[in-house]
Formats: sequence, structure tokens, C-alpha cells
Amino acid sequence: MTKILAIDDTPYNLDILKNGLEDEGFEMVTALSGRKGLELIDSERPDLVLLDIGMPEMDGHQVLQQIRLSDEYGDLPVIILTANTEDSNLARCLESGANDYVTKPFSFTALIARINNVVRTQSDARDLNRDVAELRDLAYRDDMTGLLNRRAFFDRANAEFEIAKSSDEPMAVTILDIDHFKQINDTYGHAAGDEVLRKFGSLLKSSLRLHDIVGRIGGEEFAVCLPNTTPMQAYSILERLRTHLAKLEFFKNDDGSERPVTVSIGVVGKTDQKELDGLMILADMALYRAKNQGRNRTIVETGVTT
Ligand code: GH3
Ligand code: MG
Ligand code: MG
Repeated sequence: MTKILAIDDTPYNLDILKNGLEDEGFEMVTALSGRKGLELIDSERPDLVLLDIGMPEMDGHQVLQQIRLSDEYGDLPVIILTANTEDSNLARCLESGANDYVTKPFSFTALIARINNVVRTQSDARDLNRDVAELRDLAYRDDMTGLLNRRAFFDRANAEFEIAKSSDEPMAVTILDIDHFKQINDTYGHAAGDEVLRKFGSLLKSSLRLHDIVGRIGGEEFAVCLPNTTPMQAYSILERLRTHLAKLEFFKNDDGSERPVTVSIGVVGKTDQKELDGLMILADMALYRAKNQGRNRTIVETGVTT
């Protein structure tokens, strides 16, 4: 059964879509905001999204942009429902990656024809998309860990930051740096160091939500952007990760005791910074303090605004 997610800030519109499309045998999920919609894409994995354009906080264009930038569901079919029938608006919808649009008021016959058409085209395109995705992976992925590489991390985090700036939503950015990593290489060998990076990468990914943005931004340096998350929420997520990591058994010292792998973490929340780079500098300052205070700890940068 085709599962459809409808995103619209007007409950009445959602009721109409839900009732009309359920009668036609579609499975329906609904969201009253763009943010909620993105969360439901993570948890519900719909086959298609019906997207309203005019919504407060995050409008339809921004939702579509986030979908298209996603690694997990970048090719999810999206049909835009818009009351604005001007050519320039419709062109913009398609340019920003919508598969099709339907203008309001719409007839269910036309809407269903377009849904079926988009779903069919999507399955034809899937093989091709797989090839494209492999190429995209080469450009966006860090080989070693499978996380985003530095450039892709900044691209996606910047897009999230723009959304956070234009809304009341919180956002947190963190930088993580493995402690005394050079010593691990020197003592146990470069290959063992690589293995630590891979393990740490997968631990980091599994500690976070699907829509958190996780990258390897340097040798043993990682960064995470957590949308809709306060610094204190980020702190507790990362503290759990940090304490878990410190308990894992990686290496033994000469005397047979455990030689744990630890990480230092700097966290900062969305302040009045105009650029993501400004936030990254603050996160880096917090990280630097974590290192100076003895490593294996998480520091939240607070109250610093410029
Ligand atoms: P600190 O606790 O202050 O962060 O000390 P550190 O030793 O972790 O930091 P430093 O920046 O001095 O050393 C980082 C080391 O990471 C040096 C570099 O050779 C190593 N490194 C960078 N990229 C890789 C990699 O891909 N694989 C391995 N095995 N080592 C790497
Ligand atoms: Mg280090
Ligand atoms: Mg470093």
C-alpha cells in the first residue's frame, strides 16, 4: 500500500486529504508543520509527500530543500499543493526539486492521477538513482567512517542553521576530538588508529537521530549539528556517548590494564551568531577548554555572544 505523508499547517486541509485519500486505498500520515513532517519522514518512511508551501516557521520550499539534501531519503517523491497559480511560483516548485505540483482547489481525480504517476516514475527511476547515489556518496562521504566529509557536513549544517535562524527553534553544534590520538597511533599502530576512528564513527552515528548531521571534519575530529535541540539536550546525549566510549575495551597497557579511548567535546547552542562558522569557533573554544581541563569531558559554551 502506498503510504503518503501530508504536510499542511491547516488541520482542515489535512482532514480533507486524509479522508479523501484513505477512501482511495492510500495509507495516510499527517503533519501540521514542516519540522514535524521531517520527523515523520524519519519514523514513518512514507512513499510520497504532499507538501503545502505557505506555512509559518519552515515553509514548503525549506522542507523540500531539507528532504533533497538528505542522504537517507533525498529522492523521496514530493508533490506540492499550492494556492499560488502564478507561473513563477510553479516553476520555483519544480526547480527546487518537487516531482510535481497540484494547484488548490484541486479535484481528487487529478490529485490521484498525479500521485500514481509520480509513484510509477519513481520506481522506474530507482535503478538510475542508485547509480547516482553511489556517485554522490563518493563526493560526500568520508571513506573511513561512512560519515559526511568536511564539505558535506558544512553544506548541510549551513542549511539547517539558516532554518534555525529564521525560526524560534533551538539548534546545537558540537565538535568532538579523540584524546591523545597520536599516542594511540604511536603505541598500537596506524591501522589500530583507523579502527578506533571507524568504531567511534559508528558509535557516534548510532547515538544520534537520523536527521542529526554527523561528519568527520578532520583526522580525529568530528562534528555534529543537532536541529531542534538545546545545548543542554545535546550535552546529555553526548555525555552518554562519552561515558559509554570510555568504558569500551580497546587496548591493553604493558601491565595488562585497560587503555581506554576517550574523547573531548565542545558544545554550543544557537546564539545571535550570523554565520555557522561563528558557532563552530565557539564550539572549538569549548573543546579547547575540555582539553585543558584534563580531557575526557564535555563543555558547553554558554553566555558568549558577539
Ligand atoms: P589531543 O588530545 O590534544 O587531541 O591530542 P591528539 O594526539 O589527539 O592530537 P594531535 O592533533 O596532536 O594528533 C592527531 C593525530 O591524528 C595526528 C595524526 O597523525 C593522526 N591522524 C590524523 N588522521 C588520521 C587517520 O586517518 N588515521 C590515523 N590512524 N591517524 C590519523
Ligand atoms: Mg585529538
Ligand atoms: Mg585534533
